[in-house]
Amino acid sequence: MSTHVSETRIVKGACPQDCPDTCAFLYHVEDGRLVEVTGDPDHPMTRGGLCVKLKDYAEHHYNPDRLLYAMKRVGPKGSGQFQRISYNEALAEIKKRWTDIIAKYGAQAIMPHVYLGNQGTLNGLTSGDAFFNRLGASIAEKTYCESGSSTAWIMTVGATGGLDVESLAYAKYIIVWAMNMINTNLHAWPFILEAKKNGAKIVVIDPLRTRTAKQADWHIPIKPGTDAALALGMMNVIIAEDLVDHDYVKKYTLGYEELKARAAQYPPEKVAAITGVPASDIRKLAREYATSQPSAIREGVALERSRGGGDAIRAITCLPALVGAWRHVGGGAVEIRSCRCSFTTLTRCPRLRPRTRSCRASSVRICSRW
Ligand code: SF4
Repeated sequence: MSTHVSETRIVKGACPQDCPDTCAFLYHVEDGRLVEVTGDPDHPMTRGGLCVKLKDYAEHHYNPDRLLYAMKRVGPKGSGQFQRISYNEALAEIKKRWTDIIAKYGAQAIMPHVYLGNQGTLNGLTSGDAFFNRLGASIAEKTYCESGSSTAWIMTVGATGGLDVESLAYAKYIIVWAMNMINTNLHAWPFILEAKKNGAKIVVIDPLRTRTAKQADWHIPIKPGTDAALALGMMNVIIAEDLVDHDYVKKYTLGYEELKARAAQYPPEKVAAITGVPASDIRKLAREYATSQPSAIREGVALERSRGGGDAIRAITCLPALVGAWRHVGGGAVEIRSCRCSFTTLTRCPRLRPRTRSCRASSVRICSRW
């Protein structure tokens, strides 16, 4: 009788989902089979934590519904009739169709659709771009999500990811604006708890009393879609009470006079009627935020999910400059961490041909005869 002793191998990896945290993974492999996935406790940023979506990742891996092979549709669209084919057959089929399309209509008649999911931040946003740019295909701008907030952010502070999440530990006042961080951005939370231990005040602005809002020192419920008004109301108080860092504003910003004139139109009483946040709370928030340096804002992508969302992000993103928060370690704002890589390099933009057609992916109607 032979006794088989199974051996567990640990293989290091990273979370393949599109979340910018990119948690460090440990894959536990037993006799060639993945049995468990855990967080890597040695990783300095993600520290062994995994969110609920990935805790049972080994089961996802072996799920019988996963698409593992090239499948060719053999019935009418929507009928669900597919036949497994080899990858060589699939490649030959694609090559033939594309060659025909290019010969008949030109390469711009091909438009790739790629977006995030289970491919990681880098692959999900850019996979295929280098190839399709070389081919001369049309560009589908990936406007499904986060494009409004990123554009607003870049228009306001430029192409920077903002403050390092790790530096939140040094902040004295932290506003988590429109984000249930404990559920969706869990790796920033330990740094916020560290700041809290050091005496920082944590404020959550969110229409819902989420898990994160419950843990905050102050939860400010706000009517959905009124965040720009609250930011303008805060600016109104900061400017009226002369809590502005004039030196910073003079040296490093543009358009202060225009901003001042705009903010003057949003006194706290008017903002209270728009946002549902009492005028006294707007004043208190503005004063505390301006005078407790370093102050930090973590902006959630949820801000863009309403009409004028981009403008809300622009207004909120002006606040740190007004009070000079960017001067300090732990001060400023952060939106989404994935902005920090060079997508120009990854997508091989220089390969693009002049006058290539570009469309917003979210507004393209798919109408295929195949
Ligand atoms: S928080 Fe979850 S989805 Fe995001 S990188 Fe970590 S395990 Fe992946």
